[in-house]
Amino acid sequence: AVRQGAAEWSGVGRTSDDHVVKVLGNVGSPADAKAAAEAGAEGVGLFRTEFCYLDAPSEPSVAEQRAAYGAVLEPFAGKPVVVRTLDAGADKPLAFLSPETEPNPALGVRGLRVAFDRPEVLDRQLEAIAGAAADSGAEVSVMAPMVATAAEAEWFASRVRAAGIARAGVMIEVPAAALAAKEILEAVDFVSLGTNDLAQYTFAADRQLGAVAALNDPWQPALLRLIALVGTAARESGKPAGVCGEAAADPVLARVLTGLGVTSLSMNAAAVRAVGASLAAVTLAGCESAARAALTAANPAAAREAARG
Ligand code: PEP
Ligand code: MG
Repeated sequence: AVRQGAAEWSGVGRTSDDHVVKVLGNVGSPADAKAAAEAGAEGVGLFRTEFCYLDAPSEPSVAEQRAAYGAVLEPFAGKPVVVRTLDAGADKPLAFLSPETEPNPALGVRGLRVAFDRPEVLDRQLEAIAGAAADSGAEVSVMAPMVATAAEAEWFASRVRAAGIARAGVMIEVPAAALAAKEILEAVDFVSLGTNDLAQYTFAADRQLGAVAALNDPWQPALLRLIALVGTAARESGKPAGVCGEAAADPVLARVLTGLGVTSLSMNAAAVRAVGASLAAVTLAGCESAARAALTAANPAAAREAARG
């Protein structure tokens, strides 16, 4: 349905008929942030704060966190940055937060779940993020990883607001959260689809295991149907829904996601230019027809083929 035209990345994410889709960077360090800014990212859609502390033996102080986050935010003064609170556990254990033994760490106390028992750790991180936002001049929003219900989203948003941070969002990376997108959007200002984990949990296939990698293909029509539910709920609520998983870095899939109602795409710096150019070469109606074709395809290869047109 959609042919690749020739278009350049202008630095402003939009389709050829001016439908806006922000093209953002995924970062975890000051070097990543610099690379994203140099690649022309319009802001940051995912700052993985746990990457700052993978080797930390104990919880960093508020002052230490504020300095670490500020160094990442620095290139994005005046630009939107989504800071994700610590996503500890599963594939990214943190010594000071993650339980020593869990039979199924990916299904265990990870992400926001850690904060239910230790809310003071979350509150200290929010205080540091608010400080770093003020230091850097970036337009900071905060979001939580591994949210499963609207009640969890509401709990998180109230703590974010208590910390004086204006915008609170959550990741949609658990199938239950995608199915509850409407209620979750009532509790927060925005959502961001984590397609890496959403694929893992939808297909019950470990994202780190090569033997099941074909199930974790972001072109799986069943995954696209869950994303479509979230895109529709976001449109109806008038609130933004981004994608910050690997899916956002595929220039053709970026069009499909746009057609499903996604309003921003966040990716590694190397993908920014190609995704921006791909969107600029197609209309919103072209994205919607690519999305319809991919949604009804029988398998990932057919979805890819159908979206290319
Ligand atoms: C995701 O799950 O898609 C995501 C963006 O978060 P992470 O890869 O850090 O789990
Ligand atoms: Mg994730």
